[in-house]
Amino acid sequence: MKRILITGAAGFIGSHLCDRFIKEGYHVIGMDNLITGDIRNIEHLFHLEHFEFYHHDVTKFVHVPGKLDYILHFASPASPIDYLKIPIQTLKVGSLGTHNLLGLAKEKNARILIASTSEVYGDPLVHPQHEDYYGNVNTIGPRGVYDEAKRFQESITMAYHRFHGLETRIVRIFNTYGPRMRLNDGRVIPAFIGQALRGEDLTVFGDGKQTRSFCYITDQVEGIFRLLMSDYAAPINIGNPHEITIGDFAEEIIKLTGTSQKVIYKELPVDDPLQRKPDISKAKEILNWEPKVGRSEGMKKTYDYFKSLPEKELFKKEHKDFSTYTRM
Ligand code: UDP
Repeated sequence: MKRILITGAAGFIGSHLCDRFIKEGYHVIGMDNLITGDIRNIEHLFHLEHFEFYHHDVTKFVHVPGKLDYILHFASPASPIDYLKIPIQTLKVGSLGTHNLLGLAKEKNARILIASTSEVYGDPLVHPQHEDYYGNVNTIGPRGVYDEAKRFQESITMAYHRFHGLETRIVRIFNTYGPRMRLNDGRVIPAFIGQALRGEDLTVFGDGKQTRSFCYITDQVEGIFRLLMSDYAAPINIGNPHEITIGDFAEEIIKLTGTSQKVIYKELPVDDPLQRKPDISKAKEILNWEPKVGRSEGMKKTYDYFKSLPEKELFKKEHKDFSTYTRM
C-alpha cells in the first residue's frame, strides 16, 4: 500500500486531497497545526484504518515513522487577512516548513509536491499568466509574506531537485473554491455568501473592475493528482481560465442567493492584483487536464455547503475590522 503525507490536511484543499487519496486506496497521514485548518474537515476520516492524523507544526522538525512514497505540502495560511494576522507563521511555513519537508522527502526517498500559488506572479503585468512569467511582487507589502515565502519555496524545491536529484512537483494554484472554505477567512466567495446569508450588503473592494478566475475544488484536486503522477518538475498552473470582474461576480452572488441586499464599495486592499487568469496550456498539454465544473454548478454546491452550516458559525466574525487590511 502506498503511503502519503499531506500537510495542511485539515485545510480546505488539504482535506479534499485526503479524501481523494483515501479513495485511491492510499494510507494517508494528515498533518496540521490547526492554526487556520479546521479538524471538522477531516473528522469523517478518523475511524478509517488507513488514515492517521498528526497535530504538528511543520516549521519544527518533522518525523514520520515508516516508509513514505509521497508528500503533499499544503500547509499555509492562504487568505490576505491571514497574512496580516499571522505574517511570521506564513513566512515560516513556506520557508522553514518546506525545508523540513524536502529533508523528509530526501530521507524517505519520497516524491514531493508543493503547493505554490498564482501570487508568485504578484500584480501581474502579463495577462493571462503563463508559467514563464517571472511576476511583479512587492516584497514588503502585506501580501509579501505569502508571495515571497512561496517564491522561496519554489526556489528551494528546484534546488533539491537539481542538487539532490529529488523528485519534486510544483503546482501554482489559482483561486479555488468549494465546500469547506473557511466562512470567515475574508476571501471573496465566503465573504459574499456569508454577507448574503446574514442579510448584509455585499462589500466590493475598489471599483470592482479587478478580475479573478475561480476553479472548483474537484477540478483543482484532479489537476494536483495528475501532476503528482506525472514526471514534470517545473511549475504548472492549475486554475480555471474563466475570468470575471469582482463587481459582476457580486451580481452573480446576489442572483444565486436571492438576497435583497445591495453592493457597497470599500477601499481596495494594498497590492490587490488588478487581473488574474491562468494560462493552462501547459496543464492541458502535459497533464491532459482542464477544468470541467462551470461556475454556476460549482457556486451552487458551495452555496449549499455554506447554507448547511450552523447559524452560530454564520455570525462568528473573525475579522470585524477591515481597516488593517488596507493600511500600510
Ligand atoms: N474582495 C471583495 N470583497 C470582499 C473580499 C474580497 O471585493 O469582501 C475582492 C478582493 O479585493 C480581490 C478579490 O475579491 O480583488 C479576491 O479576493 P480574495 O481575498 O478572495 O483572494 P485574492 O485573489 O485577492 O488572493
